[in-house]
Amino acid sequence: MAVRIPNTLGLEACTDNWFEYTDSEQLEACLAKAPKPWLPVGAGSNLLFSKPVFEGSVFRCTDTSWEVSRGNGYVRVRVGAGMRWDDFVALCVENGWYGAENLSLIPGDVGAAAVQNIGAYGAEAGSLVSSVEVYDTVAGHPRVFFPDECEYGYRSSVFKKSGKRYFVLKVVFKLSLVPSFSLEYGNLAARIEGEPTLQKVREAVIATRQSKLPDPEVIGSAGSFFMNPVVSKKVFTALQKKYPDMPHYPTATGRGVKLSAGWLIDRSGCKDMSAGDAAVYEKHALILVNRGHACAADIIRLADNIIKKVEETFGVTLKPEVETV
Ligand SMILES: Cc1cc2nc3c(=O)[nH]c(=O)nc-3n(C[C@H](O)[C@H](O)[C@H](O)COP(=O)(O)OP(=O)(O)OC[C@H]3O[C@@H](n4cnc5c(N)ncnc54)[C@H](O)[C@@H]3O)c2cc1C
Repeated sequence: MAVRIPNTLGLEACTDNWFEYTDSEQLEACLAKAPKPWLPVGAGSNLLFSKPVFEGSVFRCTDTSWEVSRGNGYVRVRVGAGMRWDDFVALCVENGWYGAENLSLIPGDVGAAAVQNIGAYGAEAGSLVSSVEVYDTVAGHPRVFFPDECEYGYRSSVFKKSGKRYFVLKVVFKLSLVPSFSLEYGNLAARIEGEPTLQKVREAVIATRQSKLPDPEVIGSAGSFFMNPVVSKKVFTALQKKYPDMPHYPTATGRGVKLSAGWLIDRSGCKDMSAGDAAVYEKHALILVNRGHACAADIIRLADNIIKKVEETFGVTLKPEVETV
């Protein structure tokens, strides 16, 4: 029987081969009978299903367990890949574990957070990762990745680049017991009265996100549709001469300059663009929404038109952050 595949864009997507697993033995047993291609999913909040039926097998980890071990000034929390990411952040805040609070309210599961290296307000999940326990579908056995093997970059990791080779089972995070906050991004400091606490920072992040991002329960989206593009310093200098107010940021590697995809979309006149029921979100140009009955083709057409317009205006090519399957 066909099972609906969760996806926050609200697209019609189902599979005849849906599998849930909590550990490597269960996963191994599922893989043995699962037609290929294999697709591990979480909440589908970064996926665009191009066809109503996914021809292959879809897997979701349903392990929501967690266990904690204490060190000197830190804790290690080993979390099942199926826990909702925001439940994990809430757990950290309740227990006085520092580091994840700026990542409050990001949709999706813990396993996907380690694959995507999710980020917001100057924080990235990858910087909290102590190890990632996966099942290696090529070698046919479990394996552990340590931070220097995860190849974390901007919304990228070895897991993301592996072509669905690794299925995440557990993620171990290292969180500090020593109070420390990062409030310089997104005007968080201005939203906090008095001394910051974990709870206050979480509430400020949630309030800020709710004021500008669509709630996936109400309006379909996959968050930022495009990545912020990185251009060479030479290209940036030429662009800045023409557009002195162009927002720009340093990159983690120091190579190139990161531009704001939202600003490029806005300034190239794409804000009112739509295709069928797919449209640019009025509060945030980087987000494409499904106003109700958009199909995958509508969203792909709108994204292609935006890429073309930005290219014509600025000579910069936007790359989707959302993955089409
Ligand atoms: C309203 C909204 C706001 C958002 N805001 C942000 C934000 O601020 N920052 C940010 O970084 N992202 C943001 N996102 C994007 C999204 O929340 C993240 O990419 C999230 O990590 C996706 O989680 P998911 O469980 O839905 O994964 P899915 O979308 O189901 O999958 C994402 C990728 O992970 C893989 N995957 C999933 N689970 C596993 C597993 N167990 N093992 C191996 N691979 C797996 C999938 O194959 C796919 O490649 C936002 C999305 C929405 C809808």
